[in-house]
Amino acid sequence: MKKLTGLTEKILKMIALTAVLICVCITAAGAVLIYVATEEGIKTEVNYAAHSLYYLLDSEFHGEYYLKNGSLYKGGVMISHMDFMTATNMIACSDDVDFTVFWEDTRIFTTVKRSDGSFITGTSADQKVIDSVLGKGIEYYYSRVKINGRNYAGYYIPIMDSSAKTVGMIFAGRPLDIARSNMRKIITCFTVISACVLAITLVVFSKFSSRIVGRLLEIKTFMENVAGGDFSADLSPETLSQTDEVGDIARSANTLRYNLRDLVERDPLTTLLNRRSCRKAIDKLLEQNKGYTVAMADIDHFKSINDGYGHACGDLVLKELSAMLKEETEKKKGFASRWGGEEFLIILPNSELSDAKTFLEKLLRMVRDAEYVWEGKRIPVTITIGAAEMIQGETPDETINRADHLLYAGKESGRNRLVTTAG
Ligand code: GH3
Ligand code: MG
Ligand code: MG
Repeated sequence: MKKLTGLTEKILKMIALTAVLICVCITAAGAVLIYVATEEGIKTEVNYAAHSLYYLLDSEFHGEYYLKNGSLYKGGVMISHMDFMTATNMIACSDDVDFTVFWEDTRIFTTVKRSDGSFITGTSADQKVIDSVLGKGIEYYYSRVKINGRNYAGYYIPIMDSSAKTVGMIFAGRPLDIARSNMRKIITCFTVISACVLAITLVVFSKFSSRIVGRLLEIKTFMENVAGGDFSADLSPETLSQTDEVGDIARSANTLRYNLRDLVERDPLTTLLNRRSCRKAIDKLLEQNKGYTVAMADIDHFKSINDGYGHACGDLVLKELSAMLKEETEKKKGFASRWGGEEFLIILPNSELSDAKTFLEKLLRMVRDAEYVWEGKRIPVTITIGAAEMIQGETPDETINRADHLLYAGKESGRNRLVTTAG
């Protein structure tokens, strides 16, 4: 299994705790509701069943109940066990509802059987029932009735004689084991569904948080690379195109990378590559086995521009000249850098000296012909260039030094010119 990162683990723990709490609460609340609803259902059913039997016997047999020679009579007619069974069968309720007719506290008729199949007539009612129903003459629901070793919830209705004396009871009850087993099945089903929802929630959140954390880790690695000076590090397009806060962080990190790269690699005034990054770019050409021509260009009498028009004018000339060098060199698939104050190093990869010469002469003319205007005055600007082609086995510094010497020679011989090894 994939090892979880600290953040994924934290998110999952938080989600798991919340989800478990929600599931436990829902399951517990559901169980209580099912329990209450079941109890309520039983109570309503046995109440209805007891009253049904009471009214059925009343409608079949008119008159008072009395006991004679051990048999139950009503209105002068003896009620047989068959009459009782017929009446109970007529009542529309669940099959597992049992009925009993008591004379005083003794069962005269009942549907409850012993294990041998005989009816448990002749047995007595619970003392609590006797006290409430026979003693007080009131209807009574009792959820802890024990008949023949089995637990029932049952409803008792008192039977009165003409003097309003309670002489017996009618009982309807449901065995709790069946009701409770049904209830347990529903609660188990509820718990299983909750556990499944919990598991699905955790899987979904684990995938979701892994994705977010994966993106954050990608940004972290990217930032570490950038901090270590590797500006070529990249963020995936998926991460950069995220529309959420993670995407915002990625885009900010990317912008930071470019700004930092410019600060480190470029000269702030001219935005040309600085000396260090130019050297790195030359090393890269060598790694790729590419030859090149270097051209060292220096503005002629730049000091006198500064002295004559001010430093700000000098800066303007530097910027405009740099922009031109950059644009023209890039057209030749090369690059220009600010090597020093008013010195520029131009690199032309895969370019032979004869080819470079044509380009550099054109550049020399362009610089000379360009309009540098300061406070309404045109500033005349020329440059001198020394150019050398890399010789196999030569180090970059050696080629640059040769170009530098040629530049010096150009200055000595009158400036505003290109000097190459070829003369
Ligand atoms: P040469 O033709 O022999 O190259 O003469 P030069 O005047 O160009 O050379 P020099 O080395 O005597 O002077 C270079 C001047 O460039 C001196 C320095 O103040 C100026 N300079 C260097 N960097 C900057 C800069 O960023 N801005 C401005 N305005 N001037 C700069
Ligand atoms: Mg100069
Ligand atoms: Mg100089």
